[in-house]
Formats: sequence, structure tokens, C-alpha cells
Amino acid sequence: MKRAYLCLLYVLYVQIAVAQQPFAIVVHGGAGYFGNQPEAVQAAYKAAMQRAIDAGYDVLSKGGSATDAVERAVMVLEDDSLFNAGKGAVFTHAGTNELDAAIMDGSNMKAGAVAGVTTIKNPITAARAVMDKSMHVMMTGRGAELFARENGCTVVKPAYFYTKHSWDALQNALRKEQKQKETNKKKAMLQPDNYDEKYGTVGAVALDKSGHLAAATSTGGMTNKRHGRVGDAPIIGAGTYANNICAISCTGWGEYFIRLVMAKSVSDRMELKGSTIDDAAKDMILQQLPSLGGDGGLIGIDKQGNITMPFNTGSMFRGYKKWNGEGDVKIYKD
Ligand code: ASP
Repeated sequence: MKRAYLCLLYVLYVQIAVAQQPFAIVVHGGAGYFGNQPEAVQAAYKAAMQRAIDAGYDVLSKGGSATDAVERAVMVLEDDSLFNAGKGAVFTHAGTNELDAAIMDGSNMKAGAVAGVTTIKNPITAARAVMDKSMHVMMTGRGAELFARENGCTVVKPAYFYTKHSWDALQNALRKEQKQKETNKKKAMLQPDNYDEKYGTVGAVALDKSGHLAAATSTGGMTNKRHGRVGDAPIIGAGTYANNICAISCTGWGEYFIRLVMAKSVSDRMELKGSTIDDAAKDMILQQLPSLGGDGGLIGIDKQGNITMPFNTGSMFRGYKKWNGEGDVKIYKD
């Protein structure tokens, strides 16, 4: 009798603990310069963001892992041609689409990444396969594609990724580059050609009911990038990072995020300086990043479910949903 009573108490204790464990998902659809768009266009982006948030939240609310949640959310945006990841990815200088993605499970510090893939429909699933099914962390190009195919990732023809919007953006960038070359050769080499456009990378971070954190990022990179260029998104510690302190996914001018080891630097500030996630992220995005001349933003979540979404560009598609019903989707500063 006493034993049954104790068992019941234990079950009740576990149920209450689980019910109180915060969980949440945060998603971004890229930082950049979205300009003043018509309401209908804004609404389309917001609806897409909400679909991704809901997909990730659904996994978490059913007790699924943060890793599954961020993968789900990112896949939704990869499949949506509005964003620069999967379908809709930007074009390289050579007129091809080369996709990068990474995922990290903060509970065990396992990570997987792919770079420069051209035929994987959802690069985040290839990154997940590298994490779960190989002894490696990062695979590139043809080898990554073969591995992804062998491990059941959906393969498409490179033409699948084409959108008129991204193609036109490349043509614009090429024209601009030509003009810049004629006036100032050195500057033309240094300026990214979509500097005044949105970047559009996608990413997600989550905290699950077991208290585990995860991060995922997927991108086509930057318009007019050179063949073979790899950005920050698939580099663990730069564009994507998760441990048992926080989970971070970045977007912006990748070269600066790599130099600043952006995502890990946020975690380090929390661990070594005792900063809150918001203070750590703001220091990196609003002070360190512009001091080098870079721009962009990030999303982050900590163990307690505190979130941060700073950016120093004109806009960043971003949103979240928390265990207590709190949630929002935004594009501009306010
Ligand atoms: N960070 C990405 C890159 O440099 C671009 C982006 O965030 O849109 O590849």
C-alpha cells in the first residue's frame, strides 16, 4: 500500500516537473534589407514563418526533441521559395545553386554539416544524416551528395532550386559588379553584391521538454558568391552552435560571422562573463559585428527558455512560440 502511494507520488512529481519544463522554438528567415513592402507581401512571409514555427512547436509539444523540432522548422522554409534556402536559393557567379546547412544537438554536442551541395532537396536533412549516420561533422560537394543519397535524402535536379527572383538578383548583381569594376576595381572585389537586399537564410533554435537545446541553419549563401565559397551557416561555432548553455543560428554577411566565431562567442560570453543570452547576443551583433564592417543578426535560446533575436540590418524575418502560449512573428525593427 505504502509502495503504491509512493509510486503515485513519484508519477505526480514527474508529471508536474514535465508540465513546468519550459519549451520553445525560435525561427529566422534571414536578416537583410527588406524595404517597405506591401501588406500582402509581408503577410505571405509572416504566414510562411508561422508555418515553420508551428511545425517545430508541434514536435516539441508532443515531447519530441529539440533536434527534430529545428530540422522540421528549417525544412518548411527550405521548401518555401520565398527564402534563400532549398527551393529559392540564391545563385552563384557561375549561375549555379550551392547550398550549405548545419545542425547541432546541444545535449551531446554532436553536429553535422554539408557545404556546396547542388542536388539535395533539403540540405538540413543531409546535415542531420552526417550527424547521425557518419563519424564526421562536415562533408562537402559531391561526397556530401553521395552520402546524403545513400542515406535516404531526397535528390532533385539542380534546376529544382531555380526561381526567377533569385536569377534576377544574380543578373542585377552581375551588372552592378561590372559597373563597380569600371569605377573602382578593389572595392568591387570586397563588396557583397546583394548588400542592399535581404539575405534570406533560414534557421531555428529550440529548447525541448527534456531541457535539451538544438540549432539548425540552411542557406543558399550570398548572391554572386564564387563557386566553392562556403559561408558561416555550415561552420559549427560560426553560423550554428548548440551546447547545454544556449542554441544559436545566424544570418548575415557570412565572412564576418566566421571571423567572429559568432555563435560560439555568444555562448562564451554567457559562460565566462555571466552575461544573459540577450546581452551576449546584442554585444556580438550590435557592437562587435558592425565594428568590423559586417551586418546581420541571430536568434538564440537558453536553458530557461529566454530568447534573443538581435539584428543590425533593416529587417530580419523572425518569430517564436513558447510553452506558455507567448509568440510573435516580426519583420522590421518594431
Ligand atoms: N550567412 C549566409 C552566408 O553568408 C547568408 C545569409 O545569412 O543570408 O552564406
